[in-house]
Amino acid sequence: MKLTTKILIGLGLGAMTGLILNIFSPELFTILDKFLFTPLGKIFINLISMLVVPIVLFSIILGTAGLGDPKKLGRLGFKTVSYFLSTTAIAIIIGLALAHLIKPGLMGQFDTSGAEFKAEKAPPVSETFLNLIPANPFEALTTGNMLQVIVFALFIGIALTALGDKTKGILNLVEQGNEIMMYLVGLVMKFAPYGTFGLIATAIGSQGLDAIKAMGVYMLVVVLALLIHALLTYGSTVYFMGKMNPFKFFKGFSPAMGVAFSTSSSNATLPISMETAQKNLGVPKSVSSFVQPLGATINMDGTAIMQGVATIFIAQVYGVDLTMAELLTVVLTAVLASIGTAGVPGVGLIMLAMVLQSVGLPVEGIGLILGIDRLLDMARTAVNITGDAACAVIVAESEKKHALLPEKSKVRKVAED
Ligand code: ASP
Repeated sequence: MKLTTKILIGLGLGAMTGLILNIFSPELFTILDKFLFTPLGKIFINLISMLVVPIVLFSIILGTAGLGDPKKLGRLGFKTVSYFLSTTAIAIIIGLALAHLIKPGLMGQFDTSGAEFKAEKAPPVSETFLNLIPANPFEALTTGNMLQVIVFALFIGIALTALGDKTKGILNLVEQGNEIMMYLVGLVMKFAPYGTFGLIATAIGSQGLDAIKAMGVYMLVVVLALLIHALLTYGSTVYFMGKMNPFKFFKGFSPAMGVAFSTSSSNATLPISMETAQKNLGVPKSVSSFVQPLGATINMDGTAIMQGVATIFIAQVYGVDLTMAELLTVVLTAVLASIGTAGVPGVGLIMLAMVLQSVGLPVEGIGLILGIDRLLDMARTAVNITGDAACAVIVAESEKKHALLPEKSKVRKVAED
């Protein structure tokens, strides 16, 4: 049986088990969750997280060295960031428009008196930019500060290109390190069906069904907006700019989407999304290893959609009418929030506080959606990483004409000789 099928079966069985236990035997769920579901999920998340930092480090070093020329890196960076920013803006607009149309905040009674949410201080976006350069690269590696690891790896890659022959030993070493990591991804993936089973069973089994019923329309709007964005925005850009059949794209990338759905973490899914894009979508390593780690850190379209819908929902519940200028502020702040959102579970909600504050909406409103956010986090994370893969396909296609795609740059050839 193919791994994708196994993962899908794991997802389905996990959802069914969680739901049945939730309805018929919450006591049994508590016991099974403690001794089976949570341990399975935890083992899986730890296994894949173990590979994230070395993969980002090795693959970006190789990717940069593979490009062979900092100018190409600049061009690649420009295309990638442009795609990320524009699709994120489109995502928020879809979220805002759909919420405006369906009006989830006016459907049902929402008790705002008990709503509570303490806004944690989200790091200002300027700080994200200022902290890009790691003062201590080893600290960045040990704490898993992804943006800093990316920047450090870029520098090393540039140096390897410049030094050529002199550093071919290191280049070989990194190349072999990367081989080892990719081999391990394949190995760890064998556990994915069991891990996803455990993660989904925990997520569904621990949900309060009443909360889901009360927030049904809101959830529906978010899911609908996510679907529209994935199918229309990614489908059309992959087709027109990436010259790839969207059906092939979604089918090929589905194993990674399944893992993102169960882990709710773009970062943890990164090793799998890179491997899937390279193997199933034919994205060259030099592009995938640059675009996808960057995307997992700064490109969060699914999160932006949730923030758009949530903002309108909270405005409707509190009876606030947002002006056009305020809506524009929401779009801008949510794009920035998406850059600042780390690819780990639940952070999108913390960053939502920043979006609400930008237009003076009550942050306590987040308390209303807190209970069901875990479920939506799964769906939006799957969209988050699909956006990164779509970008990788498009950038790869557009780079073809520059003939940089062959994996053998000057440096590689030197290393091989
Ligand atoms: N869980 C999301 C991710 O890792 C981030 C978020 O929206 O909370 O992509």
